[in-house]
Amino acid sequence: MPDYSLVYGRSLLKEEVGFELTEEIKSSICVEPAFVISDGSKRCARCSTRSELSKPNPCICGNHCLYCRECIALGKVRECAQLYSLPEPNQYESYQKPYLKWHGKLSEQQREASKVITESIREHKELVVWAVAGAGKTEMLFKGIQGALESNKRVCIASPRIDVCLELAPRMQRVFPEIPIAVLYGGAEEDYRYTQLVIATTHQLYRFKEAFDVVIIDEVDAFPYHMNAALHFATKKARKTLSSLIYLTATPDKPMQKRIKNKLIEAVILPARYHGYALPVPEAVYQRSDSINYKKGEHTRLIKHMKRLIAQKKRFLVFIPTIALMEKIQPFFQMNFQRASFECVHSKDADRKEKVQKMRNGELDFLMTTTILERGVTFENIDVIVWRADHHVYTEAALVQISGRVGRSKNHPTGNVTFYHQDWTRAIKKALKQIRQMNRLAQKRGLIQ
Ligand SMILES: [Zn+2]
Ligand SMILES: [Zn+2]
Repeated sequence: MPDYSLVYGRSLLKEEVGFELTEEIKSSICVEPAFVISDGSKRCARCSTRSELSKPNPCICGNHCLYCRECIALGKVRECAQLYSLPEPNQYESYQKPYLKWHGKLSEQQREASKVITESIREHKELVVWAVAGAGKTEMLFKGIQGALESNKRVCIASPRIDVCLELAPRMQRVFPEIPIAVLYGGAEEDYRYTQLVIATTHQLYRFKEAFDVVIIDEVDAFPYHMNAALHFATKKARKTLSSLIYLTATPDKPMQKRIKNKLIEAVILPARYHGYALPVPEAVYQRSDSINYKKGEHTRLIKHMKRLIAQKKRFLVFIPTIALMEKIQPFFQMNFQRASFECVHSKDADRKEKVQKMRNGELDFLMTTTILERGVTFENIDVIVWRADHHVYTEAALVQISGRVGRSKNHPTGNVTFYHQDWTRAIKKALKQIRQMNRLAQKRGLIQ
C-alpha cells in the first residue's frame, strides 16, 4: 500500500509523489492536467503563470510542449504533465493535550495581539499583524496555533526567507514538543511527511492545494514574495476555501498600508519593542557621495565617525548599497583602519555565515554589508551606519528594517543609526516618518518610557 498521506492537500508532479503511480493507484487519487486554460490563456496549474509567450520545446513525451519557467525551481511543469493529489482529510496522529509548553509572559501589547490572532484563526479571517522589529511577534502566535491544533486545523507558517524558516522551526518545536513539524525549503535534507504543522518557504506552497485551515505568512513584504503574483496565487491555492490568513510584517508595503488605513483588512499594530524602549530614530547626515577620495586617506565625516566608534569599542554595521561600491570602498577602509578588524559580506559571498558569526562573537570591530543583513539578524549592542542612504536600493521598508537592527536586546535597548546621504529621497523621509509615528503611537498607548 502506498502512503497516501504524502498526497493529502498536495499538488505534485509524478516524480514528486514519493510512491510508484501504477494505473490502479492513479485511479484512486485525483489526477489533473498541469496546464489549464483560464482567462483565455494557457497557464501553469501550479503557479498560474501564462506560458504561451514562450515557444513549445521538444519534449520527453515526443511532442513539442510548453513548460512553466516561473516555478521551474521546484521541477519542470510540462504541458503534457499531470498533477496528483488527494483532498486534505485533517487526519493526523493524536497527541497529548495541551500541546503548548510555554511559560513565558507576554507584554501587554503582545497579549492584545495574541487575542486578535486567536480570534482570526477561530473565525477564518484575514489579518495583518504590523509589529515593529523587536516586538516579539513569534510568541504572539503560540496561543492561536494552539487553538488551531486543538480544533484539528492544519497550519502552515510560511516565509519568503529560508533563514526565517530555519530560525522558527526549532523555536516552534520547543514550545510544541509533541507535535511533528515538517520544515520545507529548497535543498532540505528531510523527505516530505504529512504533518498537522508545517513550516515552509513560500515557494513550497506551489506544491499544496486546499491543504491549510490557517496560513501565516511571516515577512510578507520581503523578497521574493513581495509583488510576486505567482507566489500570491500559490498562497491562495494552498488555503482551504474556509481558512484564515495572517500576514506578519514590520514594514508593510504601500498597498497594504493603504488597505489597513482604509480598513479594507483588519490589522493589529504593535508599535513598541518588548523591552519598552523607543525605536532609535535615525540621524540623517548630509554628505556628498563623491566625498570619498579613494586614493587618499581622507578625514571625511564618515571616517571620523567610524574612528570614534572604534575608539569607544562600539561595534557597528556599515551598509553599502552595492557590491561594486563595497569592493571600491574596502581598500580605502583598510588604509584608514589598519588596526581595526572588519569583514565584508554580500549575497554572493560563500563565507557569509562565518563572517556574521564572527561579528556575533565580538571578533570584529565592524562589518560592511549590502542589504542582505537588512532583516532577520540580531547583534547585541551595535550602531548602524548607512552609506549613500539615498541610493535606490534603500526603499522605505529597507531603511526601517536596517534601523531596526539597533537596540534590540534588553541589556542594550538603545543605539545610534546614521544615514549618510546627498539627496533627500522619499524613502528616507518616509522611513523617518514611519519610525517616528510608531514611537508616537507607542507613547500614546503608554507602552514606552
Ligand atoms: Zn508554474
Ligand atoms: Zn510533453
